[in-house]
Amino acid sequence: KNLLSIKDLHASVNGQPILNGVDIAINPGEVHVLMGPNGAGKSTLANVVMGDPRYRVDKGNIFFEDEDITEEKTDARARRGMFLSFQAPEEISGITVENFLRTAKAAYTGEEIKLLPFRKELRAKMEELGMDASYAARYLNVGFSGGEKKKNEILQMSILNPKLAILDETDSGLDIDAVKTISESLQRYKNKENAVLIITHITRILQSLSVDYVHIMAEGRIIRTSDASIIDKINRDGFASVLG
Ligand code: ADP
Ligand code: MG
Ligand code: MG
Repeated sequence: KNLLSIKDLHASVNGQPILNGVDIAINPGEVHVLMGPNGAGKSTLANVVMGDPRYRVDKGNIFFEDEDITEEKTDARARRGMFLSFQAPEEISGITVENFLRTAKAAYTGEEIKLLPFRKELRAKMEELGMDASYAARYLNVGFSGGEKKKNEILQMSILNPKLAILDETDSGLDIDAVKTISESLQRYKNKENAVLIITHITRILQSLSVDYVHIMAEGRIIRTSDASIIDKINRDGFASVLG
């Protein structure tokens, strides 16, 4: 069965249509990339797939493991194993990175997360991401650089271990070394059961990853789906060359 299947999805915000009939199928084990010009609807698609209440689904369906989740709330989708990278939007005073992630994992799994084993897991994952151990004890987002915020998204993903991870421009604003680290951690994270949908402009994040499908989105539709070879073409001839 498909992990995620989106059928003829139409969605709007404040009465304005943004998604105009999106079809995508993602199977366990696959890496999908979603590209397209600014304003194409990529982030909207990610948000609608996660059940963001700001958007209205006007037509079509979203299935996760063959169950129709089109009307389901975000937290229920998360418990199914769906994850959208989110930048914890603001500084939350008094909450450390460790506390934040442990609370998120408890909410996500519905289980009590014991401090010491969690701390050990967190340390190991932070080390993989090249994050200093002191980071865990820092207050969330207080004085974080752009790169630290982005790595925090990947850290969330690897701690929550979702079946489907959607990463919305997790690479933007990162230096070359940080993009490489993230690319490598994604490849490590991937296995036969899970899948990743990466929304990106920067194909460098794909360098250590083996990509199965690339979808090009424009004006609220997937206008083209291709294998990874299209990435070279985009790098060589620019994005416009694959739009027509
Ligand atoms: P992309 O991620 O491909 O750059 P978005 O999905 O962010 O595109 O945006 C697609 C269009 O939908 C844009 O015109 C954007 O302004 C509009 N849009 C998206 N979300 C909202 C929202 N919450 N409120 C109003 N307009 C929105
Ligand atoms: Mg954008
Ligand atoms: Mg976007």
